[in-house]
Amino acid sequence: MLTVEEAQQRLLAEVPLIESEEVALGETHGRVLREDVAAAADVPLADNSAMDGYAIRAGDSGPRRVIGEVRAGSVATACVEAGTAMRIMTGAPIPEGADAVAQIEITDQGLDVVNINEPVKRGANIRRRGEDMHAGDIVLTRGTLVGAGEIGVLATARRARALVARRPVVAVLSTGDELVDVGENAGAGRVVNSNVHTLSALVRECGAIARPQSIVRDSREATIAAIDRALECDYVISSGGVSVGAYDFVKDALEALGGETKFWRVAMKPGKPVFLSRVRERLFFGLPGNPVSCMVTFTLFVAPALRRAMGMSGVLPPVVNLKTTAPLRGSERRTYVRVAVYPRDGDLVAEPMLVQGSGATTSMRGANGLAVVQEGVREIEAGASVPVVLMGLMGPMGPMGPMGGTAAPYRS
Ligand code: AMP
Ligand code: MG
Repeated sequence: MLTVEEAQQRLLAEVPLIESEEVALGETHGRVLREDVAAAADVPLADNSAMDGYAIRAGDSGPRRVIGEVRAGSVATACVEAGTAMRIMTGAPIPEGADAVAQIEITDQGLDVVNINEPVKRGANIRRRGEDMHAGDIVLTRGTLVGAGEIGVLATARRARALVARRPVVAVLSTGDELVDVGENAGAGRVVNSNVHTLSALVRECGAIARPQSIVRDSREATIAAIDRALECDYVISSGGVSVGAYDFVKDALEALGGETKFWRVAMKPGKPVFLSRVRERLFFGLPGNPVSCMVTFTLFVAPALRRAMGMSGVLPPVVNLKTTAPLRGSERRTYVRVAVYPRDGDLVAEPMLVQGSGATTSMRGANGLAVVQEGVREIEAGASVPVVLMGLMGPMGPMGPMGGTAAPYRS
């Protein structure tokens, strides 16, 4: 059986780069940049004031005659000479002759004559031309995920449009005779199809487009037909039907469609039956049906693949060492224990979810990390430092819901 790392490498080697498209600045948010962006001009374009105050010559002393005013957006017409000062607002260009700005708080705010009560060093409170960016400097590199800060840089570099990765379109299938849609009447033996919703949300969190499909019943024909249709999307992910059960048809269907198996089964818990196939130049991910296995395998395999497809620089989820607040149980396989990562007494800690069953959706409630227990390790004691794969959002809250917030060990 492959290790998680082997499977990830095998997978990432298969992922083709998706095309780029040019979009308007506002549309770049959450997208992956596909070009290096250079500054169009020096920013700021001229030395300017970092404070409201008086533009002066640093060396001279005594009261200064105020010769005028320069506001942000305008340019001074007069020149500051020894014994004079010009009122200046934050962002306004430094008038000729001045070499410092005395902030208003250290002056008597005089309108005709101003007294400055503290010495001011040459260059004080001046933002230099090009301090933020120099014309021609690369200020963003391809592969960058564009967030609010990067949008600011794009705008400052005068980019009204930018080249980003097209969002991959991902078909989300769910297989299972037991499944019903949320809202449908569910009798005994039926299970609400939650995976289609979690997986679609995870796809969107990656910056891709989710195309949820209707439930696929457990027959070879239905499975083949559904996957065949879904292959018009860039990627297909399915949940369920990849184990060794009598009604697990996903692997059969892929074989019938001419798919080439890249891996099936990875030495991990949960998520062992995860399946990857290449079919019609597409990648097909067969994720296990258990809601938790589904999210864990998405995090470790599908999300990195989508990021790689969009050309993102870093694709694997970050791993950090954190203290666990309660004992962690392992198994013969590499075990991923769902944890809430949250700040406690100034440090981030990992608190295992009380419910850890791979069928329990509540074991993912508030989970934003997967603590890694290496193969063969049976237990890790509370307080030990463990590697934690970070996922989702870092909330200010810690574990959510009635089960969270305690250090009681979980049941597996
Ligand atoms: P499978 O991998 O098909 O053997 O499914 C394993 C378990 O996951 C079964 O108990 C299913 O009821 C459950 N399951 C499968 N698909 C879904 C789904 N789409 N939503 C919620 N639970 C599911
Ligand atoms: Mg099934």
